[in-house]
Amino acid sequence: MAGFRALPSVDQVLLSDMGRSLIDSHGRTAVTAALRARLNAARAAIRDGADGDVEAARLPHLLAADLAAAAQTPLRPMLNLTGTVLHTNLGRAILADEAIRAASNAMAAPLALEFDLETGGRGQRDDHLRGLLCELTGAEDATVVNNNAAAVLIALNTFGQGRQAIVSRGELIEIGGAFRMPDIMARAGAHLVEVGTTNRTHPRDYQDAITADTGLILKVHTSNYRIEGFTAEVPAPQLAQIAQKAGVVLLNDLGAGSLVDLAAWGLRREPTVAEAVAEGADLVTFSGDKLLGGPQAGFVVGRRDLIARINKNPLKRALRLDKIRIAALEATLRLYRDPDRLAERLPTLRYLSRPQSDIAVQAARLAPPVAALLPDHAVAPTDCASQIGSGSLPTDTIPSAGLRITGAGSDAPDRLAARLRALPRPIVGRIRDGAMILDLRCLDRDEDLLEALSPS
Ligand SMILES: *Cc1c(COP(=O)(O)O)cnc(C)c1O
Repeated sequence: MAGFRALPSVDQVLLSDMGRSLIDSHGRTAVTAALRARLNAARAAIRDGADGDVEAARLPHLLAADLAAAAQTPLRPMLNLTGTVLHTNLGRAILADEAIRAASNAMAAPLALEFDLETGGRGQRDDHLRGLLCELTGAEDATVVNNNAAAVLIALNTFGQGRQAIVSRGELIEIGGAFRMPDIMARAGAHLVEVGTTNRTHPRDYQDAITADTGLILKVHTSNYRIEGFTAEVPAPQLAQIAQKAGVVLLNDLGAGSLVDLAAWGLRREPTVAEAVAEGADLVTFSGDKLLGGPQAGFVVGRRDLIARINKNPLKRALRLDKIRIAALEATLRLYRDPDRLAERLPTLRYLSRPQSDIAVQAARLAPPVAALLPDHAVAPTDCASQIGSGSLPTDTIPSAGLRITGAGSDAPDRLAARLRALPRPIVGRIRDGAMILDLRCLDRDEDLLEALSPS
């Protein structure tokens, strides 16, 4: 039985044809490190009684596999078949081709980010977005930051630092991922004044709470839950009157904030940003990568004098956007100028508005070839329910269709889920009632699923 001597030296492997080819693909440093680790493991195995020849024979294959695995980035493209269109853990909105091109151009070449092409003088990076945002929302002015959490933070800090911020107890939300309104308020330096009760808040609750120390009234769209039954909230126009009379700022945090009325595409109505502006909020905040369908960003739109004060806040510099996202946002916002073609060009809206009948046809078409690729499973078309996701319209589901995949044994769905996650193009579905459900709402092309299941 061969011992340690059967193992090659590091140099022998690096100088071999296989070694050279691995170095070509992965670089000398990575190959040397992986090789050392494998040789150490082989020596340990031989010490424990393994055969040196066997260990030596296994080495090339294991080394190549280690390097291939290490070269595969977890950030590789996946298929989101969860049925949640805006899946925060999967990166939310898929960008329009126009936005992808704009971002790609911004990465590859210089652009007039803070440069005025007419005068050759200095420009403002937000200027590329301001005009479009004002046009699409009816607001006087707009500013852009890293995400909506940052938009709320900077607005609260600008108008509420060392002062009181009044908010209804029914709207003290947690969004998840450590975004809790009371915590954001504390970090912004604002003193939280809670008014009303969990289910009912009245105009007099706000009026009674206003003092000389009040900086702002905050209205929060309770995007990720709904209070039903014996409820009352103060409508935004009435709240705007109360704020105006008291001379305090009304900030309406819309969260998802759609720029268009989703009812036109058969979805439930959500307040649009333009409506929130028209209802008299001094400032409205919303996200770039929720219903808007762009890259991660946060917007504050509203009164010009107030936006100017936000822009003077030093936090603005810390929270500003980079050129890549500004370019992608500008291209995304431009698409809204042509609502007729929006669902065609904006993936978020295209997915959300796909009729169930269309998805059911796709499911029926895909069931046989998918079954052929998963021999130890049963695959059948099924109805299912999609969600918008990222906290939008949480109690609403959208009728959808997909594939229901079952296998032998109670752990079959978990084992299949692990297998699908390990693919070169990972697939995530959701497990329900002992089956894996692949909701096809966000599957653009049949080939994407078939190719992902049978990687070359
Ligand atoms: C999602 C959401 C936020 C946070 O927005 P991000 O863009 O994720 O930072 C804030 N407020 C409300 C009401 C939201 O729904």
